[in-house]
Amino acid sequence: MTIFPTLTIPDTLAAGPGPGNTDPRVLQAFASAGVADHMQQDVLRGMVESKLMLREIFGTKNAYTYGVAGTGFSGLDCMLSAILPGDKVVAFTNGTFSGIDCMTIRMKASTPEDLAANPMNPQPANVTIITVPHGQSVTGEMVEKALAEHKPMWAFMAHWETGSGRINDVQGFNDACAKHGALGLVDAVSSLGVGDFNIDQYPAVVGWASCPQKGVLALPLTYAPVSFRDEYIDVVKKRGCYTYVHHPILNGRHWGIVDGKDVPAGVYHQTHSGYAVASFHEALRILLTYGRAQKAADYAFCEKALRNAVSAMGCEVTSNMTSLVVLNLPGKLAGKEKELVGNCRAKGFGIWPTLSEPVQVRIGILNQLTEESITEIVGRFADAMLEMGAEFDKAKIMADLKSYFEPRLKNSA
Ligand SMILES: *Cc1c(COP(=O)(O)O)cnc(C)c1O
Repeated sequence: MTIFPTLTIPDTLAAGPGPGNTDPRVLQAFASAGVADHMQQDVLRGMVESKLMLREIFGTKNAYTYGVAGTGFSGLDCMLSAILPGDKVVAFTNGTFSGIDCMTIRMKASTPEDLAANPMNPQPANVTIITVPHGQSVTGEMVEKALAEHKPMWAFMAHWETGSGRINDVQGFNDACAKHGALGLVDAVSSLGVGDFNIDQYPAVVGWASCPQKGVLALPLTYAPVSFRDEYIDVVKKRGCYTYVHHPILNGRHWGIVDGKDVPAGVYHQTHSGYAVASFHEALRILLTYGRAQKAADYAFCEKALRNAVSAMGCEVTSNMTSLVVLNLPGKLAGKEKELVGNCRAKGFGIWPTLSEPVQVRIGILNQLTEESITEIVGRFADAMLEMGAEFDKAKIMADLKSYFEPRLKNSA
């Protein structure tokens, strides 16, 4: 038998698309929670309070707003569980994550025959996947055209596609769903807690699913926020779905949501962790205290600083999200993206390549909304580029960055 030494994990600068660096207060809340079971009253109170804070963060009155234990894909699995075999679906993909969501949708909408024909990657005829090229956004016109043609029961899109760093047109998606009577489902993993929006402004989108590790910044594996409108819940109530643990209605009971109403205490669903509840609760408090609108403005301001700096280094930015830049290296370094990222990661500077073709570099700023952190990210990236033979004046780029932040300092003084 081998007993390994205690696992130690170094501190790195998580400057990728996610996860973001967790706030020390969130880790503190995790570590200082007492030993209490999942039905202890403060744990339950924490879940109910988290539910109420999540409604603020989503901008919704939806009763069915709560956290699904696990990661972003756990929340998405819960939301997409309402899709049953044979359901007609139109789903859009423009990158890695919406591509995986489309695979989930094809699995859920498959009949046993569809699954048997291609067990790992089923292709049911009732699901239409619209593939939008990497680097482009899903537009309202694209959604309108596809829904007019196919008249599906469900439509799906990612709000912000982290794989290519593109913001998709959720207003256009909503409007097309409303016009064609489709039930809209949205992956809001990368937008919640970064953008400033109220989901109740998009009433034709009946299901939203997010994650713990991006804008919500509660990485100690906690809860994937979800929110469902009554139209969605009614479908599940009428037809059921093939899951217990990710059941959109049953899952709500533990958070004090029964028959569409808030009830004081939870009903057992699965063994929730008091540590996870305490840290999730703290992450939501931090986000609301900072203010959703202020945070969105700070992301936009800092993304622009990073975008200007990497452009001055000769990179071409192809993204329009505010929590990361996705870029092509200048001609001389083209084709060396993975090598550059590897060099950075070896030094604890955690940037990422794209996970699907074409290969690009992704640099993220989740929870890095200060001049100091942006300066460190720009400086480290500049050094890595210079080491590989890029040619630019680093001192000028750093000086320009400093002057970009100067008015902000004056404003906050
Ligand atoms: C990160 C991400 C996911 C997956 O989230 P996990 O926490 O890794 O499960 C899904 N969709 C989008 C848009 C993402 O950015």
